[in-house]
Amino acid sequence: MSARVLSGKELAATIRSQITEQAAVLRAAGTTPRLAVVTATDDASSAWYVSSLARAAGNVGISCDVVDLGADADIDTIRTELGKLSAQETVHGVILQTPLPPGATLADLATGIDPTKDVDGANPLSLGRLASGLPAYAPATAEAVLALLDHHGIDLAGQHVAVVGRSAVVGKPVAHLLLNRNATVTICHSRTRHLAAITRAADVLVAAIGKPKMITAEYLRPGAIAVDVGTNPTEDGGLVGDIDPDTARTQAAGVTPVPGGVGPVTTALLLAHTVQAAAH
Ligand code: NDP
Repeated sequence: MSARVLSGKELAATIRSQITEQAAVLRAAGTTPRLAVVTATDDASSAWYVSSLARAAGNVGISCDVVDLGADADIDTIRTELGKLSAQETVHGVILQTPLPPGATLADLATGIDPTKDVDGANPLSLGRLASGLPAYAPATAEAVLALLDHHGIDLAGQHVAVVGRSAVVGKPVAHLLLNRNATVTICHSRTRHLAAITRAADVLVAAIGKPKMITAEYLRPGAIAVDVGTNPTEDGGLVGDIDPDTARTQAAGVTPVPGGVGPVTTALLLAHTVQAAAH
């Protein structure tokens, strides 16, 4: 069997063109959608991500401010900055970039982001609302997983989905979004025993682990759909996912590529949330 490549590029382009139009309408009415990204790290891949996000925002007509507090910023400084940005009427979306300085946690600091501006769903209130089936901004990556499956016509109702990873930014919100769509969800993590036996029973596998190419053919049921959230930098400056595409393709019916799968849809949805927040 040779799997379909479930690309995210076409969907991301469609979302970008929709938000370009919506942002133009808002600007014409006097509101420029504005995103603020707070960073407190000297991590090179984070810097690369933030600059590409700012460029992508500019390309669709969203203004993007990067507030770099430095890698030695203390927790109170970050908290104060998030509070200030949340209070500014002209700022519509606020993101706190990870990694954070030692001792700081995203869930704790993100409580300082106003839920109406929490465009990457980092405030625990947003996750709680999602879990309760109430409107909230989902973390863009989690929403991208569902958007990509929808785009490729994969119906989730009644399907057994195994999510490998239980972080608050990917695994848990993906699981809640899937439940809201009537999938049967098993959440796996580093302490899960007989992982391959569980994932092999699933119709869809979502890998959000952070371990390069860990998911091989033996984790997949023949004909399964495999969604790769992992973005692991390689020594030569490239990117590999959590799924080994060469073996996975021999077993699965569809595999999302890395790069070019969940990643571009994530960025597009983050910008879409910002435009949505500006429209409100
Ligand atoms: P975390 O490190 O926060 O979580 C990783 C999860 O994987 C944990 O729940 C951990 O279990 C689990 N895990 C680790 N090792 C194993 C194992 N051997 N078997 C089973 N489960 C395991 O990572 P994130 O959720 O933040 O990110 C996951 C991946 O997604 C990373 O590669 C990250 O770069 C990528 N990512 C991609 C984005 C995108 O836009 N495409 C955005 C955000 C993240 P436990 O809880 O027990 O420790």
